[in-house]
Amino acid sequence: MSRLVLVLGDQLTESVAALREADKSRDVVVMAEVAEEGSYVPHHPKKIALILAAMRKFAARLREDGWTVAYSELDDTENSQSIPGELLRRAEQHGVSDVIATRPGEHRLIAALEDCPLKITLLEDDRFIASHKEFEEWAEGRKALRMEYFYREMRRKTGLLMEGDKPAGGKWNYDHENRKPAPEDVAFSGPLQFTPDAVVEEVLDLVERRFGNHFGNLRLFWFATDPEQAQRALTHFVTYALPRFGDFQDAMLADNRFLYHALVAPYINIGLLDPLEVCRAVEQAWKERHAPINAAEGFIRQIIGWREYVRGIYFLEGPDYPRRNGLNHQRKLPDFYWGAETRMRCVSKAVEQTKAEAYAHHIQRLMVTGNFALLAGLDPAEVSEWYLAVYADAFEWVEAPNVVGMSLFADGGVIASKPYVSSGAYINRMSDYCKGCHYKVSVKTGDGACPFNLLYWHFLDRHRDRFSNNARMGNMYRTWDRMDATRRETVLREADAFLDRMSAGEVV
Ligand SMILES: Cc1cc2nc3c(=O)[nH]c(=O)nc-3n(C[C@H](O)[C@H](O)[C@H](O)COP(=O)(O)OP(=O)(O)OC[C@H]3O[C@@H](n4cnc5c(N)ncnc54)[C@H](O)[C@@H]3O)c2cc1C
Ligand code: SF4
Repeated sequence: MSRLVLVLGDQLTESVAALREADKSRDVVVMAEVAEEGSYVPHHPKKIALILAAMRKFAARLREDGWTVAYSELDDTENSQSIPGELLRRAEQHGVSDVIATRPGEHRLIAALEDCPLKITLLEDDRFIASHKEFEEWAEGRKALRMEYFYREMRRKTGLLMEGDKPAGGKWNYDHENRKPAPEDVAFSGPLQFTPDAVVEEVLDLVERRFGNHFGNLRLFWFATDPEQAQRALTHFVTYALPRFGDFQDAMLADNRFLYHALVAPYINIGLLDPLEVCRAVEQAWKERHAPINAAEGFIRQIIGWREYVRGIYFLEGPDYPRRNGLNHQRKLPDFYWGAETRMRCVSKAVEQTKAEAYAHHIQRLMVTGNFALLAGLDPAEVSEWYLAVYADAFEWVEAPNVVGMSLFADGGVIASKPYVSSGAYINRMSDYCKGCHYKVSVKTGDGACPFNLLYWHFLDRHRDRFSNNARMGNMYRTWDRMDATRRETVLREADAFLDRMSAGEVV
């Protein structure tokens, strides 16, 4: 008896659990481009194009390899435009009722499959280093779920950067050596870019027609769309950027969108690259003395540490996690997140490159757009939806913990031990944004005061009950309390006025 084998747009690898379990000689692979997935948030056109092009190429590879693939293109007139709908249609067409699928990375889609009247067997997605069970066992009984301890377990498990049972170089974590400010010159021309072939061009036309009204530039489109290209992009990064990745991991430049970053998250997340193989390539570069330990460790930590850890948290915390609002922030997302004018050069530049590339690196996401959202008290659900829409690598299992947890502290401190907030001083230290900004980073109140300076104290003041006893925030509150009362009052009044102007739609 044959079965349907569901392969989703972020499961594009021959070794995904459902394909391993399937029988090529009798089962039918179902892949579907559906409007529901493309528009439940207004995904960036580049992100949609990446996924659709990679899906089409994957389906072609499967066919060449002897699989029967029932592939629904977005414009097919019969297409029901939802994943369960397409499963039902294919089940009827092929006279089958059993489906095997790899568990989706999003509670929404898991629930939709569970509600589908077909008999669907969900297999664990084992493209990760830690299984759900392992993460649950690690989390069991711990007062705080800090990434660092989990990361050490993953180092031991994979043997990456280990010398026996000791960390290579003597330290587990070289984070302190990964914080150099923005360099004058960047000796890396950016990620490897690919000219669209016929398959990609067809998808670009389709996306332009169907999703051209979404925020984001579709062209110039240069992403890798198959494993061979993605591998070349990785090799390019390891050869030319990795050696300096560690030093400048946190730096930001207004006119250099990529610095020494890898741009591999979209490829890993949809299955074009295997996370462990990516880490092994980086470890090998360190073994060959091509890259220093702070670069190799800094990179590997992001993947076997942060990436695995946030996934563990997403599934451990359950379906309500993405909607948490622990600080009760309700302010609406201002239009400048969607490209309207703002005088804050850091925000404007981060949004501009997000629009152009469907990409911003970690510190731009955390300390510019995320920091502003937290300081200004923006509604976490709206902010989270924005991040999910605008980045090519955004899938809920990885986006929500990073946004709701790490960036907005809306999960009440499951991920972060204190909120990631900073005044303009941090942005000024790590970037060149402040030069040429309408505001003055050194000005704390009055004409031209940097909004981050005002909002930083406003945030601390309005959440005193929640944070003043946090040992890691005591110094901040002591500094605030040492300011004279008139100054404090001025800061709060000006911050309120700024927020009011912003919410009224004025250019701020
Ligand atoms: C507010 C916020 C939202 C984010 N949303 C996403 C998201 O939707 N999808 C996503 O993949 N990453 C997300 N990240 C993490 C990180 O910003 C991106 O993974 C990274 O910028 C991708 O670019 P890169 O490949 O050049 O990464 P590099 O900076 O070169 O890092 C190497 C790799 O490490 C992994 N990585 C690094 N940091 C994280 C992290 N915090 N969580 C998970 N993986 C990480 C990625 O696979 C990345 O490719 C978010 C971070 C923040 C602060
Ligand atoms: S001065 Fe303030 S608003 Fe302007 S770029 Fe610097 S941190 Fe951003």
